[in-house]
Amino acid sequence: MNRTCIFCGRSFEPYPTVPDQQYCSRPECQKARRRKWQKEKLATDEAYKANQADCQRAWRQRNPDYWRRYRKIHPAYTEKNRQLQRQRNCLKRQSSGDRSVIAKMDELTKRNNCLSGHYRLVPIDLSGVAKMDELIVKIDVITGGCAMGP
Ligand SMILES: [Zn+2]
Repeated sequence: MNRTCIFCGRSFEPYPTVPDQQYCSRPECQKARRRKWQKEKLATDEAYKANQADCQRAWRQRNPDYWRRYRKIHPAYTEKNRQLQRQRNCLKRQSSGDRSVIAKMDELTKRNNCLSGHYRLVPIDLSGVAKMDELIVKIDVITGGCAMGP
């Protein structure tokens, strides 16, 4: 009886020794299976988690230059991370209501108080003649965009 791989969606024949096999034998599907297994193991097995952390710490001690070298030969990776971090910082500032952002906004509102407020909007045609009744609109000055510049 063939089955459908839950990772790639292809049909496969399970091994007789693995009756509830869910992943086919393609390398990427087996990799996905192991990733899922490890994620579950880390979430449920404290001893396994501690052991993994120890192994990673030991590896980092044996290879102290790994990430520095990696960043050096993968500048695109480094740049992407830098941009993601910038976005995270920006989101964090916005959600935590950073005082400096609020202060800046207060200052800007004071300076631009002629911009924020209620306005009468009168639709006109090209000759400048009012076409419809006026509309009252409220305009608020919005600040704090996330510029992605350097
Ligand atoms: Zn598969």
